[in-house]
Amino acid sequence: MAGAYEQLLDATIQHLEDLKSRGARHVAVSPETLRALAQPPATKSQISNPKSQIEKAAAPLPAAKPGAQKTTSARPPHSSSPAPAVEQATLLALPGETVASQGPPLDPQAKAAAFTALRERALACVKCAHLASSRKNVAFGVGSIDAQLMFIGEAPGADEDEQGEPFVGKAGQLLTKIIQATGLQRADVYIANILKCRPDTPGQSAGNRKPTSDEMATCIPYLHEQIDLIRPKVIVALGATAVEGLLGKTIGITKLRGTWKTYRGIPLMPTYHPAYLLRNQAMSEKRKVWEDMLAVMEKLGMPISEKQRNYFLKA
Ligand code: URA
Repeated sequence: MAGAYEQLLDATIQHLEDLKSRGARHVAVSPETLRALAQPPATKSQISNPKSQIEKAAAPLPAAKPGAQKTTSARPPHSSSPAPAVEQATLLALPGETVASQGPPLDPQAKAAAFTALRERALACVKCAHLASSRKNVAFGVGSIDAQLMFIGEAPGADEDEQGEPFVGKAGQLLTKIIQATGLQRADVYIANILKCRPDTPGQSAGNRKPTSDEMATCIPYLHEQIDLIRPKVIVALGATAVEGLLGKTIGITKLRGTWKTYRGIPLMPTYHPAYLLRNQAMSEKRKVWEDMLAVMEKLGMPISEKQRNYFLKA
């Protein structure tokens, strides 16, 4: 007869299969559950003494070895076959989990593993068949998964599609300058788009198009998972389309920018898209974006010099 652990596992798989056959596409998995799943299987005595098992599951995982690669091993150092528990856990964290994660953050190894698994799913995504067939690369996201600050744009353009990285074209170069003006580097923040694939432009050899609301709704679960894993302290939404994709249709970006909103429990600052600043080089418009960034820096408790406070003010 199978052991209690296997029986429990079979029952869980059966339950998930039942849910799937009834049309469920998502299940909510809390960080605590992910952490518990990352533990090795319980022994007989632990199963007969569930209290000890619960206490063990709540205990923190051993710290990663210094210098260990952040995003390589999906397996906790103590785990032995057959317990690819983190892989099982990340399989359960399906796209579409729309409830912002609460509670203590995941330990660094489980977080890195979950992020790697998420990236792999996004890179193989074919939910928008037309985009999957037209894209060169999926531009999943770039930067630190421990970032306090996250930027969200609308969708990759031609350069981003070519390189598989968000914001690497002209607008991206300006975004990098804006980030550097705060004293941070591009690698300190996390940059993503609502859409991970470039919107196709059939019959056109150049140019971009705005993502449709269907495309954004299909892709946004990946962004939700990125946000919930990274848990930045502040999100900056770049431009009207990104704001619409995140907050729905609201007042225009001209009125909305500079006003704090909340997204998945995180303070969100809407501001102009850097592409807008490339089209409109007026000092006053640059200053508006910079004021939004000053508000972000204040929210993050970053030091702000007098010189920084005065950027883009007329002499
Ligand atoms: N514009 C966006 O919104 N995202 C990119 O990645 C590039 C340009």
